[in-house]
Amino acid sequence: MKHVDRKVDRDKHIVEAVVRRFGPVSRVQIYELTRLRPTTISTLVRELLQEGKLVESGPADNPMGRKQTLLHLNGEYGSVVAVEFDEETVVAGVLDLHLRIQEIIKEPTDLSGGLETLLEQLQACARKVIRKSKVSSILGIGIADPGLVDSRRGITTTSSTIEFWKQVPLRQAFETEFKIPTVVESKARAKTVAERMLGAGNKFDNLIYIDYGAGIGAGVIVDGHLLYGQDCAVGEFGHTHVTEGGPACKCGSIGCLEAIAGTGAIVARIRKALAEGAQSQVLSMAAGDVENITAWMVLMAAKAGDKICSNIVAEVANNLGLGVSNLVNLFNPAVVVLDKRLEMAGDLFLDQVLQVVKRQALSNSVAGLSLTFATLGNEPGLLGMGLILLDKHFEIPALRPPRFMIEPVQLMPAAPESTRSAVV
Ligand SMILES: [Zn+2]
Repeated sequence: MKHVDRKVDRDKHIVEAVVRRFGPVSRVQIYELTRLRPTTISTLVRELLQEGKLVESGPADNPMGRKQTLLHLNGEYGSVVAVEFDEETVVAGVLDLHLRIQEIIKEPTDLSGGLETLLEQLQACARKVIRKSKVSSILGIGIADPGLVDSRRGITTTSSTIEFWKQVPLRQAFETEFKIPTVVESKARAKTVAERMLGAGNKFDNLIYIDYGAGIGAGVIVDGHLLYGQDCAVGEFGHTHVTEGGPACKCGSIGCLEAIAGTGAIVARIRKALAEGAQSQVLSMAAGDVENITAWMVLMAAKAGDKICSNIVAEVANNLGLGVSNLVNLFNPAVVVLDKRLEMAGDLFLDQVLQVVKRQALSNSVAGLSLTFATLGNEPGLLGMGLILLDKHFEIPALRPPRFMIEPVQLMPAAPESTRSAVV
């Protein structure tokens, strides 16, 4: 929590935050929302306009009386830089304060040289996109990481999809290099925040987002709180078990959901089926080369009705449905949002997952549940990191408590009972 010394500084943050959240708004609406004194609002708005943080736009139509000038946030006042990556792609973008993507670059993830090479690539991508955008005032850098992220310390603890990505002090590395405050978050949590505020999550306070790929993660929002846990490890959905036994997982356990239903499992299954002589249109999608087949091709072939691929995808839906049923029973969400990439398998896939959830989860929790594909097509990880950075930037600070409350006087401690009786 940020602190300020004077009430007037706090009020200024409140005005700015209200304009960001509800803008465009008039001064009268700011009064109605904050109940700050009108003269205070006028003074603070004037200062914010002079500083370039707010801008005025044409008078609002007000049939009830005098037309009022509207205020909104100056989107160009500052920018944030967001980097999203996984074992396939690195994406870096510069976003303005309205979260409009100003510049974006994408490149394949370089896994050839280990940790140092990948870290250097992430920094190089951030550098390139900043240079391309020509922005000067960068409020923060956010990194959406596919691994298990300790967001409080800004460290990636481990990754089950990028083997060497362990104990990476990402925040420190970026802050040393760029001298800009940096936030590191798990990709699943970043996308969860984005889908909740801008996508299919519809601002629900109880929401679970399933991030799907080689790894499977979940972002869990309960009663409006994004859950982290003791080691920031809430949401390691891919390492929950839906069956006893099963294939080995990269985490060292066996039978994990992502080992059974992740993209790696899909590719392994289709290759095995083809090696055993099965016919599938996915082979022509991969230009006749088994090595080129991706899980996404299998999803698309299933949607097109390919029999082998449909069977594989139905099995994925079944296992994912069992996992989601457990999440529904544990967290009672209003909505479960599935990674948009799963939409490649079509609505049938969504229906298959839903049928399993309806069968397995408690009927009370399923009654009001909605299961849907994510809707943010364009870089939800970047948008999520942008939201997280801006929420941090526009956070309303608390008034610093008086000094005597911060450093309470140490009173003479009473002697413990046993000591007292011994003295007597
Ligand atoms: Zn595992």
